[in-house]
This record gives sequence, C-alpha cells and structure tokens, in this order.
Amino acid sequence: MLYINGTWQSTEQETKVYNPADGTEVGKAAYGGETETEQAITAAHEAFGHWRQTTGNERSRCLRALAEALRTDRREIAITATKEMGKPLGEAEREVDISIDYLEWYAEEAKRVYGEVLPSSDPSKQLLVLRQPIGVTAAITPWNFPISMIIRKLAPAIAAGCTMLIKPAPSTPLTAIRLFTCIDRSGFPPGALNLLHGDAEAIGGTMTSNALVKKITFTGSTAVGKQLIRQSAEHVQKVSMELGGHAPFIIFDDADLDEAVAAVVASKFRNTGQTCISTNRIYVHEEVVEVFSKKLAAAVESITVGNGMEEGIDMGPLISQEALDKVAQQVKEASKQGAVITQGGHTMLNRKGYFYQPTVLTGVTETMTIAQEETFGPVAPIFVFTTEQEVIEQANDTPYGLASYCFTKNMDRSLRMMYQLDYGMVGMNDAAFVVPQAPFGGVKQSGIGREGGTSGLHEYLEEKYVSMRAA
Ligand code: ADP
Repeated sequence: MLYINGTWQSTEQETKVYNPADGTEVGKAAYGGETETEQAITAAHEAFGHWRQTTGNERSRCLRALAEALRTDRREIAITATKEMGKPLGEAEREVDISIDYLEWYAEEAKRVYGEVLPSSDPSKQLLVLRQPIGVTAAITPWNFPISMIIRKLAPAIAAGCTMLIKPAPSTPLTAIRLFTCIDRSGFPPGALNLLHGDAEAIGGTMTSNALVKKITFTGSTAVGKQLIRQSAEHVQKVSMELGGHAPFIIFDDADLDEAVAAVVASKFRNTGQTCISTNRIYVHEEVVEVFSKKLAAAVESITVGNGMEEGIDMGPLISQEALDKVAQQVKEASKQGAVITQGGHTMLNRKGYFYQPTVLTGVTETMTIAQEETFGPVAPIFVFTTEQEVIEQANDTPYGLASYCFTKNMDRSLRMMYQLDYGMVGMNDAAFVVPQAPFGGVKQSGIGREGGTSGLHEYLEEKYVSMRAA
C-alpha cells in the first residue's frame, strides 16, 4: 500500500517480495509511479503550509508518539525486516532501538531550532539570521537498514518543520509499510509524511522535475546518487547524499589485537557486510599480521550463518543472487591473483537462499578488484603494511571517503591519523560509532551533507538573513 495524504492507497499493479533466506514469498506491495508521486507532492505541499507554522513542541510530540509506537511494535517491525532482507532478528530489533534513539533525539531538537542575532556594523541596524524549514522534501532509501534509513531522514525533517515523501527500496517495502502504520497513529497531519513505492526511475524523476520539492535526500549507490544530483540541477534542489564507501581498517603493531579482531568482526560481518561503513580493506602492520590473521580466521569460523528468524544466528544471507555473484566473483578473482583464502570462500550451496560463507583473505594487494570496489558482502581482505606514511597513502587511495577505522595505543599517532585520514568518520579504537547526536556522512564520492546531530537538522533548514534598519 502507498500512504498519501494520510490515506492508504492501493495500485492496480503490485510487486511480490521474497525472503532472501529461503526464497519464500513474504508479501506484496503496491507499485506506483508518476501519478502517485504527483499526488504525494501536492499533499506534502499543502500540509507544509500548516506544518511550518507549528511550534517545535507540537512537532516534538509527534516524534515522541512515533518513538512510542515503534517501541510498542518493536518485534513486529523487526520480524518484517528480517523476513524481507535477512538480517538476524536481534539485529533488526537493535535497528528499531537506534531508530527510537534518533526519534527521541530529534524530538528534543525540534524545540531548539534557534536563529541568531549578529553584532551589527551600524548602530541603526539589527542583523538577524532566521532558520526556516526548507519545504517539501523527498527521501529515497536503501534496503540494508530498512527501518533506520527512513527514520534518520524523517526525524530531522519533521523536527525542522518540513514535510516528506519517502520511497523505500523495492526489496523492503513491507517494513516501510509497517513503519507507516506507526506514523498513521502518531498524530501527524495528513500529507506530512507520505509513502511511495513502485517504479524507482519514475518516482525519482517526478521528485526531481517538480519544483515544489525543495530537497532530495538519498542513501544508496554512488551511481544512482550521481544521477539524482544531475537531475536535481533542473530546479537547483538541495541534496543530501549518503553513497558508497570503501572503509580501511588500520591495525598498528601496538594495538590490542583481540579488541581489533572483535571490532573487525563487528564492522565486517554485521548485516552480512552489507553496510556502507563496512570494513573493506584491513591493513595490518607486518609485525603482527600473522598473529592477527590467525585470530581473525578463528573468530570468523565461529560465526553462525543461517535464517535470521532462527535462534543463535549471527549472520544472514545476502540480499540477492546478484549480490551473491558479485561477492563470489571478487573472491575468485583475488584468489586467482594470489590472495589466500584462510577461512570460508564459498557460496553455501547446501541451503536455499543467498548465503555466502564468512570469509578471510590474506595477501591481498591494491590492484585486485576487492581493493577498489565496494564488496557489500562478508569478506575480510587483509593487506600488510610497514610504515605509517605508506598506510595513510594506501588508505586514502580511493574515490570514497565515508568511514575509516584505526587501532593503536599511541596517542601521538592517533592524532596524526585522525587528521590525515580523508574520511567523513574515523573510529579510533572504535568500530561502533553511530549515534544520533553525531554527524554521519562522507567526503569525496561518498556523499554530500550529514545525517544526525545538529548538522543533520540544518540539512532541512534554510538560513534567511535579515538586515533591519530603524526606519
Ligand atoms: P542498492 O544497490 O543498495 O540497491 P541503489 O542505489 O540501486 O542501491 O538503490 C537505492 C535506492 O535508490 C532504492 O530505493 C532504489 O529503488 C532507488 N533507485 C534506484 N534507481 C533509481 C533512480 N534511477 N531514480 C531514483 N531512485 C532510484
């Protein structure tokens, strides 16, 4: 179902959704296009007229009510997400929890959209900066975090006083519908939040060709992000882009290796490696590479793979056959070029679904595809380095710049590393840094803008400068 102007709406055409863990049908979703997107834009535009006048307290109450609704429906939402995209149920529940954190944080921020009074250059003038909501915004989201990717966009938009159209990924429409049943009972006025699924190109094209839409916020591949940036040029719409990554994870010889192993496992195998901040290149100092590689292989061997609905599962399937083929191809190619598979390395053919073994590769070099392209799968490639300068150059040698990780106990080196890594985010001895109060985002081709924190709120506000002279 679509949700437009506070009403559920079906379409003639429908698409089926399948469980990547076993190929069973999970449900059906409506399939909308240009007409429905135009309807949603009109609804969001009309709603904006009133919504922009509301107080921060009023918008805060809606966000809080939504947080409560998510708390009540936590398990149901998580089950839908697990069935649609495969992650273990516990992980899906944690995704609901972090989404609640975002909602509650922005419920507070809604009350703190401050303007400024600037020191004047002329005693007869008052210089003011107003911060006002941008207007109708449009969000396009991916399947890997089908709950939090939506919430991370709508929470600051609503806090700022914007209205929004949301188009989730075609593989996870049902989780979005589940979220919208929560939105439906949280007191938002009709048109404030609208749900669309269907023809991505038509929906995206309508969002960018209609001048009433003032901002596009997108999380997904760099290729689609670039296309949307091009399209948004027509009406000079604002854009926020969370695109691909190719995260380096650097381990110096003085690092706590057990902690580093645990952090690599978390950042590489969580969500089956399908996150934009997943570790993609593990650089280990030559003095410790052997010990580290053994420890990592042992830890990876103990990862339990299976259907996320079952008890005790650490890692689910990949999202699709295409994703599975890509991972298998990268491993095959690396191994042909001299990398050694020390753990895993195969598609799990003994079961239905898109399962790939958690894999560790050693002896990986910069020219292999896995060193250049995002894997989006459960493969940990290990590179060896000797000097700090060399590893900084290698880590930065990519068009991406989202997340990076560095493990060392040396404070001077930590300071040097955090300044020299060309990334939007640096985890220093930390691989679990996503929190609502922090700005999440990338540099280079990893994106534009930030989600989370005060910066995340400002993405949905326009500054208006007023110079007021006493008449
Ligand atoms: P992924 O490879 O993670 O699926 P995509 O960038 O293909 O990443 O998809 C992310 C989101 O972008 C999804 O919601 C998808 O439907 C949407 N999308 C894909 N192509 C387009 C397009 N041409 N215009 C607008 N949205 C698109």
